[in-house]
Amino acid sequence: MAYSTEGFFDTYGGKYVAEVLRRPLDELEVAFHKYMKDPEFLEELNTIRRDYIGRETPLYYAPTATKLLGGAQIYIKLEGLANTGAHKINNAIGQCLLAKKMGKKRIIAETGAGQHGLATAAACAKLGLDCTVYMGEIDVKRQQPNVATMELYGAKVQAVTSGSRTLKDAVNEAMRDWAANPDTTHYVLGSALGPAPFPDIVREFQSVIGYEVERQCKERNIDIGAMVACVGGGSNSIGFFAPFIDKAEPRLIGAEAGGIGPGVGENASRMTGNASREGIVQGYKSRFLLDEDGQALPTRSISAGLDYMGIGPQLAALGQRGRVEFTSVLDKEALEAVGFFAKNEGVLFAMESAHAGAAAMKIAKELPPEKAVIINMSGRGDKDLFITSPEFRKSQWIEFLKAEVERLEDNKEIHSSKIMK
Ligand SMILES: *Cc1c(COP(=O)(O)O)cnc(C)c1O
Repeated sequence: MAYSTEGFFDTYGGKYVAEVLRRPLDELEVAFHKYMKDPEFLEELNTIRRDYIGRETPLYYAPTATKLLGGAQIYIKLEGLANTGAHKINNAIGQCLLAKKMGKKRIIAETGAGQHGLATAAACAKLGLDCTVYMGEIDVKRQQPNVATMELYGAKVQAVTSGSRTLKDAVNEAMRDWAANPDTTHYVLGSALGPAPFPDIVREFQSVIGYEVERQCKERNIDIGAMVACVGGGSNSIGFFAPFIDKAEPRLIGAEAGGIGPGVGENASRMTGNASREGIVQGYKSRFLLDEDGQALPTRSISAGLDYMGIGPQLAALGQRGRVEFTSVLDKEALEAVGFFAKNEGVLFAMESAHAGAAAMKIAKELPPEKAVIINMSGRGDKDLFITSPEFRKSQWIEFLKAEVERLEDNKEIHSSKIMK
């Protein structure tokens, strides 16, 4: 089940969109299959991966974690060392390069916490494309560091004021823009979901992670027992799992956001949660957190990248088949994993990736020492200082923020005018 069949993974997936979006989606599908067989395109993509993204990313053996946990050998795929700090750049660069080949001059993207917007803005700056990022007004206010970074890359961040003013409204707005400007514009969707062919496209561009792991393990005689990744929309996990999904082994494990508990609205567990339902939302059929009337339920997670109410259709199908196992990780377990790997290995996980770290800490004990557990560290944790600092050292952090505000309001130091001149 590597590629979809006519856009479907078993019963999930599809292309449930308005008539105006059919043409751009069909055009994209044809171009995608053409360029993925074009040696020139693939060589250009590989050069950018090497020189700009910084691939391949290391597969790090974690000796202290292995010793402390007992059981399988622990390895960490350091995807967070990719330029921009996370795996999202793999997809953003792939799609932007594809769009450029298709003659598009303008890129649009949706973003929630801002990580996908940031990766797309960087890719556009690198490739010389015009970039507009749709972002819910509430997210714009909450995620100023990412907004500021997107603007540094030269992107326009368009605040979306409709609906709940968060991610799903940003997706709707981006779809509307694309439907109105299909000839000039490509819509870079940020995870392995949405209407076909996006789940196939995003998986293929992210599968570079999994193929590197496969090669690295072969070269070093590592016997993989289990692979663990966190699952938001599902792009880092499906890319990491890709080379292995049609095989019986190794175990593939997806870690969802368990938030603060199992209650409705307390987590984002689309496969393991109480409110998990089949539905058709935003152009594709999959599993979502919905109420009895099919309306989106609120989600909760300490990690901004794992709180989407839906999951990519291929993962939903692989879960149904039993090929991918799902588990949910609580906020506090993810925080503990951040501390554990930082202290014992000098590796700082992003909050999202720490869900995979926490799940792996449990699974390692179930496996014998001749087997390896590979954790995909989808991102690094620098971006999460505003979340981890209040957890680990709240009062000092509040003091720091207050002092910063005072300093800015007093205009004591005028950085920007000095730098700009
Ligand atoms: C966005 C994000 C995720 C979740 O998205 P997926 O599509 O499920 O990979 C996970 N980790 C990091 C670091 C992210 O930025």
